[in-house]
Amino acid sequence: MKKLFEIKELNMRYPVTNGLMGNITGYVYALNNINLDIYENEILGLVGESGSGKSTLGNCILKLITPTSGKILFENENILEKNKKQLKNFRRNAQLVFQNPYMSLNPRMKIYDILKEPFIVHGIHDNIDEKIKNIMFLIGMNIDVLNRYPHEFSGGQRQRIAIARAIILNPRFIVADEPVSALDVSIQAQIVNLLTDLKKHLNLTMLFISHDLSIIKYISDRIAVMYLGEILEIAEKNDFFNNHKHPYSQALLDAVPVISEENKSKKIILEGDLPSPNNPPKGCKFHTRCPYCSEKCKKELPELKQISENHFVRCFLI
Ligand code: SF4
Repeated sequence: MKKLFEIKELNMRYPVTNGLMGNITGYVYALNNINLDIYENEILGLVGESGSGKSTLGNCILKLITPTSGKILFENENILEKNKKQLKNFRRNAQLVFQNPYMSLNPRMKIYDILKEPFIVHGIHDNIDEKIKNIMFLIGMNIDVLNRYPHEFSGGQRQRIAIARAIILNPRFIVADEPVSALDVSIQAQIVNLLTDLKKHLNLTMLFISHDLSIIKYISDRIAVMYLGEILEIAEKNDFFNNHKHPYSQALLDAVPVISEENKSKKIILEGDLPSPNNPPKGCKFHTRCPYCSEKCKKELPELKQISENHFVRCFLI
């Protein structure tokens, strides 16, 4: 498998300031030493609780925010070293689908203008109307609606339009950041199916961010689990669901409600909230909530260890 992205030792820290002078009193450690590859034509599901750093990672990969340190290689070139013009070319190839389709579309623009805007930004003038018609066909919407405004559509239809805008320049990579969590359950499956079809049809590579393991299971080829700015486990989908190793992965899976009471006592129930990234625990970041925590876990940080060809785990138990 060819790597599209190689993320190396990526860190993101936000300064915390205090008072009128803006003195730095500490840092929020949003991403800590992230090493991750994204392969061409795969959907990598990124799962974790709110505040675990998933969206920060997605935004760094698109260079919508600049990380504190590290490298993000896109086809062997570090996007963090690109100049403005090179970055514009990169953006044509790497797009974002936002969580909330009610906020991500300009309410004053007609759908036609929303879809035309990326062509104008990138100085493309050929066959725009034909490309807009084709994209409407791909997302399953009628071209009659191009003259309407976003408020005239349901949430699912707006998310289709937002997806159309993201793929209209034929990008190679998409970050889909919780693209269905603001939608009704009945509509979620339609949007997930649309993204799966588009991935096949357009040979897209996708980072699919979600806290919903059932959707991640449905759509992803590989799964990465994040906790407090660190990757705790990465595995291929079937390996992850049948043979996950990290206690946090187990806890996330145990949190999915099932009707059966069987094996309830063996489940890991997560207690308390995610610790503050402003003052993260020393050693293993998960030790404050882990039922298997030892003295070593409180002092030392486990490495992300490779346990089989495509399976990596960060835990001293492994
Ligand atoms: Fe739990 Fe220790 Fe493994 Fe961390 S390293 S997940 S605290 S057993």
